[in-house]
Amino acid sequence: MGVRRTAVVKLAVSDEHRGALHRTAEQYLYCANRTSDYCWSDISYTECKTNKREVRDALYSELREETDLQAQLVQAAIRRAVEAVKGVVERWKKRQRVSQPTFTAETMDYDTRSATFYRDKVSLATVEGRVEPSFVLPADSPTPYERYVLSEDYEFRESTLRYDAATDEFYLNISTRRIDGDGAEVPADTGHPDQTVLGIDLGVNSLAVSSTGRFWEGNDYDHWCREFEKRRGKMQQRGTQAAHNALLRLGKREEAWRKQYIHTVANELVAEAVEHDCDVIVFEDLTDIRERLPQAKWHHVWAFRRLFEYVAYKAPDHGVSVEQVEPNHTSQRCSRTDCGFTHDDNRHGEHFCCQKCGYEVNADYNAAKNIGLRYARKRTHRLRSSPKSGSGDAEVNLRINGGTLNGKSHQPIAGD
Ligand SMILES: [Zn+2]
Repeated sequence: MGVRRTAVVKLAVSDEHRGALHRTAEQYLYCANRTSDYCWSDISYTECKTNKREVRDALYSELREETDLQAQLVQAAIRRAVEAVKGVVERWKKRQRVSQPTFTAETMDYDTRSATFYRDKVSLATVEGRVEPSFVLPADSPTPYERYVLSEDYEFRESTLRYDAATDEFYLNISTRRIDGDGAEVPADTGHPDQTVLGIDLGVNSLAVSSTGRFWEGNDYDHWCREFEKRRGKMQQRGTQAAHNALLRLGKREEAWRKQYIHTVANELVAEAVEHDCDVIVFEDLTDIRERLPQAKWHHVWAFRRLFEYVAYKAPDHGVSVEQVEPNHTSQRCSRTDCGFTHDDNRHGEHFCCQKCGYEVNADYNAAKNIGLRYARKRTHRLRSSPKSGSGDAEVNLRINGGTLNGKSHQPIAGD
């Protein structure tokens, strides 16, 4: 199932506990990198080790002895590294350029044994015992505890603690799944069977495009990122201490400016969903975004990830949930529901022209519709086959420019 719900929550961490979390992250990264070394082979992908159980059996006791990490965190670090190696092996098989995964960002995966949720705080295992940061939330919004833990419909799978060096803040990305009576996983929904979806395509031509046909071009974003880069280049050439200090200040200003920019886009995007009565905003999964968009610069990838996080953080306050779907072929597929022809030749840069039915449209708008449709179809199918939803007519509709499309069509989407 390619759909999951993510919520991002900021944590209030005391100075003392910040140190404990940083030291925990350091040991966690050590375990992940050790595991990567163990699994990786430069010779051939067939030499790489990708069996989680075997790798865990080989490394677990050693890493427990070498670190102060709690058992579950050692296992999570091993799992993270094996998954990364596995992903790289898949790309290697497709003859893409690959290198051994290394881990530098301070992010740690917690499950129900290493993280306990309370009404207004979370208790996290660290190398110095438990710490209990509280949630930083708008006053009137339900806490993650109220929203998910008290609910019988949700199950915590994992939460990821992320340190954002730029803001010097810790965030918890919480992943939940809705569970039905049999314990089988179904995607989270807003509690009523009929839903309306807003699809979002992220890209280089336009930063974001919605299925309602709204474009966030991002031209000024690109322009200012280039300007900042130029100024940085000049300062670096000078090489003096004063220039170095000015460079640091510039870096902070740039970071603040970029964040502000993405916040504005995120607000407008949520407003677009509210304005069109959408219950769900759907993005593509961003995991392999660098491979899929080789022309994307680092500041694009940065913008995509922040934009998703900000929207995931803001949307629930407006009764809108945020989902991700697998990105396979959303750019090459014709979004006309009676067609759906998928071919590389359909897309030329910003222009989409279906080689089968002749549908011509902006390529990013076409992709945004496909992203929304992918979610709507899966969800409709799921609702109809679920005895719990009762009504056989449960439907998920995609909001498009000037109307809606329904998710009833069961034409397979490439890659499903
Ligand atoms: Zn077509």
